[in-house]
Amino acid sequence: MRRWGILRGKEHNLVKDLKETTLSFKKLGERYGVSRQAVHAFSKREGVKRPAKPKGHQTEGCCLCQKLIQISKKPHSEFISIHTIRKEMGVKSGRKYFFHLRILRDRGLVGQKFGRLFSKRAEKAYAIYFTKRLPIRTIGRKVGYKSFYSIIQWHRASGWNVPPSLYVYDGGERSRIKSKIQRKKQR
Ligand SMILES: [Zn+2]
Repeated sequence: MRRWGILRGKEHNLVKDLKETTLSFKKLGERYGVSRQAVHAFSKREGVKRPAKPKGHQTEGCCLCQKLIQISKKPHSEFISIHTIRKEMGVKSGRKYFFHLRILRDRGLVGQKFGRLFSKRAEKAYAIYFTKRLPIRTIGRKVGYKSFYSIIQWHRASGWNVPPSLYVYDGGERSRIKSKIQRKKQR
């Protein structure tokens, strides 16, 4: 007798899935090639007690959360602006992922500062700061900051982990100035 369509012969597996997973009737229906209603009716008929879904947002099964985690694994991800994150997420409104971002931060799955940089200009400046051996003033001038140094100071004070500049001030600049002076003297 074909009581459950192509489910026949797989009843045991479905009971197992109903008892051990929190997959929806719809998802299970897809898995067994029957309708959501058929799974629901079957579950009722068999008297299956379904496990309670774990509390809170399920980040593992959420594509927005997974995408955010992926972006946060990039180097210096705390210096990626929300504009860029939004672009990479492919969502127009920030609201859609703020909820997920907060949960991920609360659970320590992304850095505390991830998604908190709002300035595109700061993002641009830091991108140079992390990759090019240039004086902070030069970087500031490139992106249009009066003082990129004070921006860095502000970020450090606010909890961003800004690594030291690639540009070596003490060695490089000073000795170059010194040798210039000495060369002038020698002439
Ligand atoms: Zn999520």
